[in-house]
Amino acid sequence: MGKKILIVEDESTIADIIAFNLGREGFETQTAYDGGEGLRMALEDAPDLILLDVMLPVKDGFEVCKQVRAQSDVPIIMLTAREEESDKVTGLELGADDYVTKPFSMRELIARVRANMRRTAPAQPAAAGDLRVLTGALSMSEDKSEIYKNGKPLDLSVREFDILTFLASMPDKVFSREELMEKVWGYEYYGDLRAVDVAIRRLREKLEDNPAQPQYIVTKRGMGYYLASQP
Ligand code: CA
Repeated sequence: MGKKILIVEDESTIADIIAFNLGREGFETQTAYDGGEGLRMALEDAPDLILLDVMLPVKDGFEVCKQVRAQSDVPIIMLTAREEESDKVTGLELGADDYVTKPFSMRELIARVRANMRRTAPAQPAAAGDLRVLTGALSMSEDKSEIYKNGKPLDLSVREFDILTFLASMPDKVFSREELMEKVWGYEYYGDLRAVDVAIRRLREKLEDNPAQPQYIVTKRGMGYYLASQP
C-alpha cells in the first residue's frame, strides 16, 4: 500500500494538482481545505507525511504545525509564500521538517516529499546487540534507523536523524553550515542557512543534558558544528 500524504491547502486547484501528481507517483493522498479539518485528519488518520499551507482558514498552518507536533513526529513540509521570508524559519521553529516555497515545481515537491518521508517504524526499544555506540551515551540501531540516549529512543525527525548520523560519520570534524546543507539537505536544495541552525537547536534540545551548554553537538565559532567524540 502506498504511503499516505495529507495535503492541507485551501486553494483547491493547487491541492488537486498536488494530489494528482503524488497519486501518479504511487502515494495515497487526502486533502483538508482548512486548518481545523487538517488538524483533525493529521491526528486521526495518521498520515505518513503532511504538506501544510501557511495561510489557511479556521487555523493557520503554524498553529496546525504546533498542535500536530505536540502529539506526533510525522514529517511536516510547510508550503510557504516566497515573499514571506520569515515564514520559513517560523515553521521550522514550530517543528516543521522542511518547507517548499510557492510557486514550486511538482518535481521539486516530490523530491522533497521523498527526502522527508519517514523511513522507520515508530520508536521502540532496541534489541541488545543491535546497538552501535556513536559517542558518549548515544547509540544507534542500524536495523531500526533509530538513535538512543542511554538506551532510550530519541524522537528525531528524518532531518535530525540525518544530521546526527552525518556528523557521527566523522566525529570531531567541523562542518560549516554550507557543508551541512549540501550533505544533509542535498545539493539541489537552495535553502536558507538558518534552517541548519534551527535544526541543530532542535536536535540539541532532544539530546543534550543542557541544551544551553551542548556537550555532543558543539559549535566551533565562525566555522560550524561537530559531534564531540568525548562529550
Ligand atoms: Ca492558502
